[in-house]
Amino acid sequence: MNKTEGRIIKSVAGFYYVLSDGDVFQCRGRGNFRKKKITPLVGDWVQYESTSPTDGYILDIKERKNELNRPPISNVDQAVLVFSAVRPTFSTTLLDRFLVHIEANGITPVICITKMDLVQDEKQQTEMLSYIEDYQRLGYEVIATSAKSLEGMNEIKPVFKERTSVFAGQSGVGKSSLLNALMPDLKLETNDISDHLGRGKHTTRHVELLPFEEGLVADTPGFSSLDFVDIEIEELSFYFPEMNSRLADCKFRGCTHSSEPKCAIKEAVEHGEIPTFRYKHYLEFLQEIKDQKRRY
Ligand code: GDP
Ligand code: ZN
Repeated sequence: MNKTEGRIIKSVAGFYYVLSDGDVFQCRGRGNFRKKKITPLVGDWVQYESTSPTDGYILDIKERKNELNRPPISNVDQAVLVFSAVRPTFSTTLLDRFLVHIEANGITPVICITKMDLVQDEKQQTEMLSYIEDYQRLGYEVIATSAKSLEGMNEIKPVFKERTSVFAGQSGVGKSSLLNALMPDLKLETNDISDHLGRGKHTTRHVELLPFEEGLVADTPGFSSLDFVDIEIEELSFYFPEMNSRLADCKFRGCTHSSEPKCAIKEAVEHGEIPTFRYKHYLEFLQEIKDQKRRY
């Protein structure tokens, strides 16, 4: 018998599929973690014992770096945030909302703009490029792609290397099409209504990590709920990197960067160092959090 480390990539009916050195072991749970009432999650690093070349038992679960509820998955490194340039229309409000949620979970966002082939007139193109530059200046990785023309496919592949990634984004933006273009063997159904990478008809949410480009990719998108219930007023600016890096310069500790004097954030907005639209979204989200607190 062999004690080894591996990663749960799939869980079906009480069995956990543990990937270790390119082999997959069908495992049941056994051991201390069950007394601690911890249920193994897809994404968990585990210690397991193989009882045959294909089967084994999970003995212990390593501490999780993070944990998502929808889909249920742990130890995610990055979220590939998929936004279409058009159809649906590109929305920085929604993009910033996703970014805040991803940052709040301690996950690195990568922005992928899809349907670039549908950007026709020059005005639209200039506008799109200017947004891309804005987000790049904030420190985000932004990749422009098209599942039709295959623009950007070579640029996006290295992003997955040695990382565990989850896709996120509204339905209809092209998540399934992108995944299909990257992994032609997968053949996911594409459509415009499902939020489940084309698998909307399944009743139970079941997630699988697929090996890709020396990394793992979740086949079910994350961050479907985007309210701010878990975020505190004082915390919000931590999740805007251009604000987070300037917090120490505000005169008041716990400054909410709205009506306080000598606020470094407001000054940076006035000097054009923080895009006006980002600050506007910050204030909108702040108000939403305040309204929520009042309600509960
Ligand atoms: P999902 O809901 O995010 O998984 O989106 P889908 O991949 O199902 O795509 C929604 C629609 O957009 C489908 O009709 C796709 O054919 C179309 N689509 C996706 N990507 C592209 C693209 O890069 N270019 C164009 N022209 N259409 C796309
Ligand atoms: Zn401030």
